[in-house]
Amino acid sequence: MNYSPNLQPQLSKKLIVQKYGGATLATPEKIRNVAKRIHQLHQNGVRLVVVVSAMGQTTNDLIQLAQKVSDRPHLREMDMLLTVGERISMSLLSMALNDLGCPAISFTGSQAGILTDEAHVNAKIIDVKGFRVQEALMQNKVVIMAGFQGVSPVTKEITTLGRGGSDISAVAMAGYLKADQCEILKDVDGVYTADPKAVPQAQLIPKLNLQTLLEMTQWGAKVLNSASVALALEKNVRLFVGPAELMEQKSTSDGLIGTIIDSIYSASESTPVALNSFGKVCKIKTALPQNEFQAKLTMANIGRPQVLQQTENIIYLTGPQEVLEALFNFEEKSDFYEILDKDICTVSLTYSKAAADSALPELNSILEKNSIKILNSFSLMNSVHFFIPTAFRDKALQSLHQIILSSKSYLL
Ligand code: ASP
Ligand code: MG
Repeated sequence: MNYSPNLQPQLSKKLIVQKYGGATLATPEKIRNVAKRIHQLHQNGVRLVVVVSAMGQTTNDLIQLAQKVSDRPHLREMDMLLTVGERISMSLLSMALNDLGCPAISFTGSQAGILTDEAHVNAKIIDVKGFRVQEALMQNKVVIMAGFQGVSPVTKEITTLGRGGSDISAVAMAGYLKADQCEILKDVDGVYTADPKAVPQAQLIPKLNLQTLLEMTQWGAKVLNSASVALALEKNVRLFVGPAELMEQKSTSDGLIGTIIDSIYSASESTPVALNSFGKVCKIKTALPQNEFQAKLTMANIGRPQVLQQTENIIYLTGPQEVLEALFNFEEKSDFYEILDKDICTVSLTYSKAAADSALPELNSILEKNSIKILNSFSLMNSVHFFIPTAFRDKALQSLHQIILSSKSYLL
């Protein structure tokens, strides 16, 4: 079996952190399949820490459950509730591994030494004290760790890291252990030039620079949590994104599938690499500066939307569905913001290097030719961003994607 980068015996002394997404653990059968893959790696001598997400839609279901009990759930209690999801996955996976004769032990974030600040629902990792993880690895055990959670050493409370936070847990542990690679395993084959659901011609990107991926995730790519990519850059962690299920017929000619992301890949010239989008953006009027605005939202138990742009008293923001809904619901009661438009999306084209400035006129004219109304456009770092009415989203993505296809630069 040589179709996966880490099943090769010569890599056998490696230490790898693998993260399995919720979709790949959605059923007992899938959990047993994941256990088989892990068992095989362990038999090949690979040392493994496996970070798990909650099974399938569990986190969404738990959020909905909370909302049925409370309009704006208390955030500490929300964390107590949400961390249950990952705890279910970790214990089941560890059971499956032990059944296969593979020594494994599961840890919560707190047991694994993931220390965070005290911001419930949106905590940041401030340190990793993974002594128990190291000890278990030394005993030749596979460590299964609950993603998305930690503990605040100040308040002693359990915290969560924000939606998609298991990726952050995985990168943080990989950085702490100086792992050879952090593998994010999903039900998709890797990172694409655009979301294949919106752009059927989207192509798999085999190699990607970390900074490029960071900008992509900051502007809507859902393949990885954005903070996890920033952390990988900071800690110099090599990432791999690939499918959880290995199938021979899926492998490409060079024997690899998926995307390797590393700072060592850099382009000599600036070429368009990927197109991403936020489907739900709203335009808000507020007299408050950004940090005060966010602090007031937190006090109102609304959570933390992502600010995309602020000019004078206008803020464009996005966020998870539950945050945006809470923001819409609270508008009537609030005296510090007013929603001006809820029907906006972004479309962002990220280049391999700073370039975006000179690209703006060309992209503008492509959109205009396709009769797409542009509400706002600008370039920042290596990307060009457009704010447009949601109705034009797919058309904009498809017309701009032609630029990527014709340059073939995603092949690096
Ligand atoms: N289960 C959490 C979520 O759905 C964390 C994660 O999946 O990374 O947001
Ligand atoms: Mg999840």
